[in-house]
Amino acid sequence: MDWYSDFISRLITCRACPRLVSYRESVKPLPKFIGETYWRRPVPPWGDLPNARIMIVGLAPAAHGGNRTGRMFTGDSSAQFLFRALYETGLSSKPYSVSRDDGVIVRCIYITSVVKCAPPNNRPTGEEIHTCVGNWFRYEIERIRPRAIVALGHIAFEGVKLALGFRAEFWHGGYVDFNGVRIFMSYHPSPRNTNTGRLKLEDLVRILRMAMEYAGCGSTQVSA
Ligand code: SF4
Repeated sequence: MDWYSDFISRLITCRACPRLVSYRESVKPLPKFIGETYWRRPVPPWGDLPNARIMIVGLAPAAHGGNRTGRMFTGDSSAQFLFRALYETGLSSKPYSVSRDDGVIVRCIYITSVVKCAPPNNRPTGEEIHTCVGNWFRYEIERIRPRAIVALGHIAFEGVKLALGFRAEFWHGGYVDFNGVRIFMSYHPSPRNTNTGRLKLEDLVRILRMAMEYAGCGSTQVSA
């Protein structure tokens, strides 16, 4: 079994955070998703393995996004915004991410989160962040060995700092270098940020292109 398959099979049985286990298993389906079977487990990361050079890092799966579909950044509006940007840069074969079997192919990237279970109000506690970074996220970084990381949001950036062990301030559009890895910072593509224009598509595309250039990802469009 390769490391990723082994990692996922262990991850999806994790119950280390009682509050998050309780929440992920009790989320009530939104009316538009009634009839769907929610995933309700730690949400698997995914990507272009073993070729990924950039880690795209969110904070945690959304209650009706990854916690429903079973794939990180899949099925909610944040994911649609992110994938419009990834498509624009040629890193995704489609400008959307809606389900585990939507046929989307990505290249050069690995899409993950600091915390693997959906938290209430999208806010894990400090202890939950520490637990998930220590149990899972730090290991992912060690296995992927990315050239670049794109941290989506201030708390995701805090998780990356915790995992790698460096200190820096969050600065949207900026980056910091640590141990040969360049960590780029962007506001999270949440509706609150994208609907208000705080994060524009062209901003996220620009940040992704900087990461691609640094990581040597080239500019070809991944084909479906
Ligand atoms: Fe396990 Fe992480 Fe979920 Fe906590 S958040 S239960 S450590 S997978």
